[in-house]
Amino acid sequence: MAKPLSDQEKRRQISVRGIAGLGDVAEIKTNFNRHLHFTLVKDRNVATPRDYFFALAHTVRDHLVGRWIRTQQYYYEKDPKRIHYLSLEFYMGRTLQNTMINLGLQNACDEAIYQLGLDLEELEEIEEDAGLGNGGLGRLAACFLDSMATLGLAAYGYGIRYEFGIFNQKITNGWQVEEADDWLRYGNPWEKARPEYMLPVHFYGRVEHTPEGAKWVGTQVVLAMPYDTPVPGYKNNTVNTMRLWSAKAPNDFNLSDFNVGDYIQSVLDRNLAENISRVLYPNDNFFEGKELRLKQEYFVVAATLQDIIRRFKSSKFGCRDPVRTSFEAFPDKVAIQLNDTHPALAIPELMRILVDIEKLDWDKAWEITTKTCAYTNHTVLPEALERWPVSMFEMLLPRHLQIIYEINHHHLERIKELFPGDMDRLRRMSLIEEGDPKRINMAHLCVVGSHAVNGVAQIHSDIVKSTVFKDFCDIEPAKFQNKTNGITPRRWLLLCNPGLADLIAEKIGEDFMTDMFQLRKLLDYLGDDAFIRDVANVKQENKQKFASYLEKEYHVKINSESIFDIQVKRIHEYKRQILNCLHIITFYNRIKRDPNQFFVPRTIMIGGKAAPGYHMAKLIIKLITAVGQVVNNDPVVGDRLKVIFLENYRVSLAEKVIPAADLSEQISTAGTEASGTGNMKFMLNGALTIGTMDGANVEMAEEAGEDNLFIFGMRVEDVEAMDKKGYNAKEYYDRLPELRQVMDQISNGFFSPKDPDMFKDMVNMLMNHDRFKVFADYEAYIACQDKVNELYRNPKEWTKMVIKNIAASGKFSSDRTISEYAREIWGVEPTDVKIPSPNEPRYSADE
Ligand SMILES: *Cc1c(COP(=O)(O)O)cnc(C)c1O
Repeated sequence: MAKPLSDQEKRRQISVRGIAGLGDVAEIKTNFNRHLHFTLVKDRNVATPRDYFFALAHTVRDHLVGRWIRTQQYYYEKDPKRIHYLSLEFYMGRTLQNTMINLGLQNACDEAIYQLGLDLEELEEIEEDAGLGNGGLGRLAACFLDSMATLGLAAYGYGIRYEFGIFNQKITNGWQVEEADDWLRYGNPWEKARPEYMLPVHFYGRVEHTPEGAKWVGTQVVLAMPYDTPVPGYKNNTVNTMRLWSAKAPNDFNLSDFNVGDYIQSVLDRNLAENISRVLYPNDNFFEGKELRLKQEYFVVAATLQDIIRRFKSSKFGCRDPVRTSFEAFPDKVAIQLNDTHPALAIPELMRILVDIEKLDWDKAWEITTKTCAYTNHTVLPEALERWPVSMFEMLLPRHLQIIYEINHHHLERIKELFPGDMDRLRRMSLIEEGDPKRINMAHLCVVGSHAVNGVAQIHSDIVKSTVFKDFCDIEPAKFQNKTNGITPRRWLLLCNPGLADLIAEKIGEDFMTDMFQLRKLLDYLGDDAFIRDVANVKQENKQKFASYLEKEYHVKINSESIFDIQVKRIHEYKRQILNCLHIITFYNRIKRDPNQFFVPRTIMIGGKAAPGYHMAKLIIKLITAVGQVVNNDPVVGDRLKVIFLENYRVSLAEKVIPAADLSEQISTAGTEASGTGNMKFMLNGALTIGTMDGANVEMAEEAGEDNLFIFGMRVEDVEAMDKKGYNAKEYYDRLPELRQVMDQISNGFFSPKDPDMFKDMVNMLMNHDRFKVFADYEAYIACQDKVNELYRNPKEWTKMVIKNIAASGKFSSDRTISEYAREIWGVEPTDVKIPSPNEPRYSADE
């Protein structure tokens, strides 16, 4: 028998990721050594693995530079419409491997690093995640950047360069503990600071009304320093820019004429200004009305709009002549996409620039603003909707408050004309909510100030139209669209699951990487036993690899023959990790009741971060770890059931765990998960879904056929009916003995013997005020899990269903999503034009 291949040798066999010539390998080795010497200032005697990572990162980065400059020059010359994706979050993860893949350099680098006696995968592990996001919303922005570059759009991502990204999660005694994410400590090889493009952002002050119009005066200034990160498209030589702003205090900060005496204190106080970009707010789907957060939101918007307008004025349509600029053409040359309401201030800020600075009349400015801006809604959960106190605006952004009032005045006048005397409608539709405190409804501002409003999955877009924006939809139905979310197949298949990507490419070629609908062709191989076996083998290898990772990093042993049942996502009541726990405990009780019966073995893994201030989410983590303590140490259970909490779930961990999954848990209460994108990653990587008819699960079931997912539980209609009738948890507790046993165990300290009251808040919530109706879906969920076990006992049928799912996942490419945004919102056409390769530098010593 042949010796099994090492990981490195396996990777060398893989073809999809582009094989560059041997000349490239030699050049990469040379440049690696050059960077180790000149950039890292080390030799091989003293270099650490981290030095090698940086030497490789710089070597790969060099391949981006020419393409980046060329792309931007090409945009300047061709002057296409620019797309600006404004987001408070870009959850990028690691960059090295993604860059190698998109540039077709992966195999050449692997070979070069191997020849240098090093291991590529080991070096890749050294890179810090760029964790500038909380979860789905931030990761969506990152996938969109990849797709916009791959589709050749002249696109820019605009956000904040947080000095600290999403916290690192540690588990101590089963509880979550947060640690600061000092991701820039060793430097970031992918960013380029651009101090020469620094821009001022104003706060506080007051408004003076002069004959020439309103003037915002007496402000405090903070500078916005741009850091640019290249965003390469997939093998098309396009390199777009993600521009993240960092706050800098001006050199005269706090040094006005009257307090020159306190020079030292004023230098120390520079921190106050620079705190704006210090840290990402760690809330997912939750609004926390902190002033610093509002400052962040205005900071990114104000800097970005200045940048956009500067670029417009220097473009062909801006005539490259500031005096002759006509803003008429602005919406034809500029699109601004708002990733949720977080950058909503773009609307009043653009109005302020056009009216107060460029001196356009209000109506013209409003037409330009609404034609330029479009808004994506990400949730209907009321606790997530941004509603800022008017008083905070009055202090921080007095001119914007006036503009919002003016927008509201025009808006309400129009509603009055359409619905005379309907005072309640005016109240419902107002941008200002009366009450104590008086608040600004940012979602209403976005709807009114945008030409398009979209939800992120069909069911969510329908709910948005019939609930939160019903009144708005009544008057402008055409404004409301759907753009079902997607994921980039480069990171979420080729990068994280090369074995599967290669196997697919052997059958249907490589074009599915840019046209995921081609995966349909896999249906032709449902009768091909060898292919079915190969798909199953790739999954088994991925499971073994992940099991080894867990053993090496966390010293836990798992049974890689068991069902890998995985729920990874932010911890939230609406995502119902508690329902998963109830199943775990039910399964445990069944084993204990009848220890000699056969049970299909399972390893249930749950991972995700809880917002630091979210008590119930933190208690859910404690419940999972406490249940794990009991279950994993019970000899009667053996390796038939294991419960693992996956610490510090983040993009780089997602890339490891998702390819190893058999079963994907997508079990939110119907109507609460807007889309989900984790669900799509699992589908593409050959896991089967157990899920509710919520978010994009609905469309996954539509694409694959409902029989090819494990769908259970209430539909949106059932939830609505139950809301009318009233949900009574006690009813289920009384009727279902297994549920009753589980709840009794949780409440009587079976999982927390030292503190029997540990979970009392949770038990009380579940029994008395559960907004997400966990018990109502318990019975159907357990029954559905039984069906999962049944199918898993037939590996061939299981794998055939897996193949049907992969074949049906084409719709969930973010390339498809972005093509729809491009055509239906931005008015631009995606291209597969390849910018020529920059093989020859276009300068010489004589220039
Ligand atoms: C994709 C992704 C998410 C979103 O997962 P959902 O299940 O859709 O909530 C969150 N976090 C990370 C790290 C991801 O990669």
